[in-house]
Amino acid sequence: MSDSNCIFCKIIAGQIPSRKVHEDEHVFAFHDIAPWAPVHFLIIPKLHVPSMAHLTPEHQGLMGHMMTLAPKLALQEGCKPYPDGGYRIVLNTGAEGGQEVHHLHMHVMGGPRPWLKG
Ligand code: 5GP
Ligand code: ZN
Repeated sequence: MSDSNCIFCKIIAGQIPSRKVHEDEHVFAFHDIAPWAPVHFLIIPKLHVPSMAHLTPEHQGLMGHMMTLAPKLALQEGCKPYPDGGYRIVLNTGAEGGQEVHHLHMHVMGGPRPWLKG
């Protein structure tokens, strides 16, 4: 369920402090410690799933929950609504995908440009 060596499992457990955005039975969301954008938070499953590469059909409900939660939390955290506002969702996977923390996480990034290039 959780991995005692995992930094994000420790954040969920409150062993490492974080600025919480949302918590429910299945997910935890918190501000990124090194934001790339004016609004930058992470949504993570409470279940320790190392990456997108580890997903199985039993995770479909969980991933759907994270996807549908992201737009609500983005507005809550100050992103302007679609289409003039909006946000970028990123799921880095594996070393060549830029993944550094091996507990699946969804980056939600938004706020006024010019932080977003390309
Ligand atoms: P990745 O490169 O794995 O997709 O992204 C990991 C993200 O986790 C990075 O943006 C990094 O800033 C963030 N991060 C790493 N350690 C911590 C931490 O202890 N607390 C918080 N709030 N964010 C962290
Ligand atoms: Zn973990």
